[in-house]
Amino acid sequence: MQLIGVLGGTFNPIHFGHLRLAQELTDALNLKEVRFIPAANPPHKDAPSVSAFHRAEMVKLAIADNPSFKLDERELQREGASYTIDTLISLRSKIGPEVALCLIMGSDAFTRLNTWHRWQEILDYCHIILVQRPPITVTNQPPLANELTLLLQNHYTENVSDLSDQNAGFIHMQTITALSISSTAIRSAFKLKQIPRYLMPQTVIDYIAINQLYD
Ligand code: ATP
Ligand code: MG
Repeated sequence: MQLIGVLGGTFNPIHFGHLRLAQELTDALNLKEVRFIPAANPPHKDAPSVSAFHRAEMVKLAIADNPSFKLDERELQREGASYTIDTLISLRSKIGPEVALCLIMGSDAFTRLNTWHRWQEILDYCHIILVQRPPITVTNQPPLANELTLLLQNHYTENVSDLSDQNAGFIHMQTITALSISSTAIRSAFKLKQIPRYLMPQTVIDYIAINQLYD
């Protein structure tokens, strides 16, 4: 069975942390493609300062030179909160059962998974690929909730080959190059009139400047 990566995020803005993550998982898991899915209305964040349109345009620019990276705008076409479960159901109905979906999550996102809408159903539709996100400190690594520890125990696999044996249901951890880059830090840099060169594609930096997104 082929594997498709699903990377949801606010992408406000997209940076090399996201892109390198997608590339390393593509190589390690032999992903056919990675879908970058910008959240229109992230349920757990204040409304993003930048419109979904601009955030999607930045993703488009960032992935333009990589044929296995795709922008998926399905959350932008839905009203209301952008719930991952709805996205997975919609993806699954489109691609059918013969493809394994691999939902990519940084550790910061995983520690909050038990607050997501219908989170117990997520593994019915996909595998979860977990990556460690630096920096590792006490504050960004709160102890894992018991129900998430249990979820890990029940679904964990070390074997990449399991991911292509069934189309959903496993949690796999992948080691990646630790890049301590965040959109939050990039937005702060722009506010201070600093240009975050070498943290994100120059095409995206130029787009931000032209459209004055973080002034
Ligand atoms: P913000 O600071 O606004 O929250 P962000 O940098 O965390 O932005 P998101 O769009 O929130 O970016 O992240 C989308 C997904 O990518 C999440 O699962 C997150 O954990 C993961 N991710 C983002 N940056 C990195 C990174 N540097 N290394 C590993 N995973 C990352
Ligand atoms: Mg984040």
